[in-house]
Amino acid sequence: MLAAQLHQNGLDGLTVGSSAPPSLAPGDVLVRVVTVGVNQLDLNVISGIGPGAAAQLPRTLGIDPAGVIIGQGAAVPGDRIGERVVVKPNIPCGECERCARGAEGDCPRQSIIGVHRDGGAAELVSVPSDNAFAIGDLDFAMATAAVHSVPIALHTIRAAGGIAPGERVLVTGASGAVGRAAAELAKHFGGEVVAMTRSVVPLGIAGIRTLSYVSLEDMSGILAAVAPDGFDVAIDATGHAGVTAVAVASLGWGGRLGFCAASVDAELRIDARDFYLKRKRISGTASADFAEVAEAIGLVRSGAVTPQIGARMPLTAIAEAYRDFGARATRGKVIIDVG
Ligand SMILES: [Zn+2]
Repeated sequence: MLAAQLHQNGLDGLTVGSSAPPSLAPGDVLVRVVTVGVNQLDLNVISGIGPGAAAQLPRTLGIDPAGVIIGQGAAVPGDRIGERVVVKPNIPCGECERCARGAEGDCPRQSIIGVHRDGGAAELVSVPSDNAFAIGDLDFAMATAAVHSVPIALHTIRAAGGIAPGERVLVTGASGAVGRAAAELAKHFGGEVVAMTRSVVPLGIAGIRTLSYVSLEDMSGILAAVAPDGFDVAIDATGHAGVTAVAVASLGWGGRLGFCAASVDAELRIDARDFYLKRKRISGTASADFAEVAEAIGLVRSGAVTPQIGARMPLTAIAEAYRDFGARATRGKVIIDVG
């Protein structure tokens, strides 16, 4: 089968070539891949930094494949052959206290498809059966665009205490997949959303005010002007500590910040007095619970959230797709058409 494999760190270490088909463990399903996305996490794996440093090479990349189940292990209940599915990248340990109460997103021992085991930038991928979610008649590319970003955005909003109707919500990094999903979900829950992005191109989501900024100082000034009493909730999907700090500073009394990005910044400088004097809170998320993945797919199918599809490229051009993504040359989810 054809697969995009990383043999050594750096884009030069990536090849698209023939590879042995994946083995099928008793609890796995075998998926014939139709689409897979291009993600920041892939770039982290390629560079060997942040959460991507955990990958042992060679590694087949691709965290969010969608396709059709064509095989299943002996321990998989029911008949799943022929099911149209999308794969949630995070695999919880299944044994800890958090997993036992359905809080898989916060399992401290989770592994990731495309990082800790071979991913779906290949014609075939085997994944734990529980990680393959039925998508019904949802388009494969849309499912790939949604499966990583929408559940994380949902989980981040919930971890930040939810959004009540009328609350003022700031979303940073709103032109990225997670940020865009967070903005749409915040609006869906009744929030008054201000979306910040470095891009000058509006998000094009009805009812969401998009503002662009050129510097952190500029961003501070804009936020102080649009929300003089501060925001109730901020969702930071940039992972850039400077932006996170401005977002925390822009919160009003009792404001909550949800952080959801594969950050590589080691330091965050914020005013420690905010937590005492202004009762602010910060919560961090990096995954979602299985129930939230199913809920997110439902929200996409209903039209409440519509992930943006950007460029589409064949598997043979995946290195180019990663290079473009790193250079931020594209907007919307970049989809690799595998089969
Ligand atoms: Zn666990």
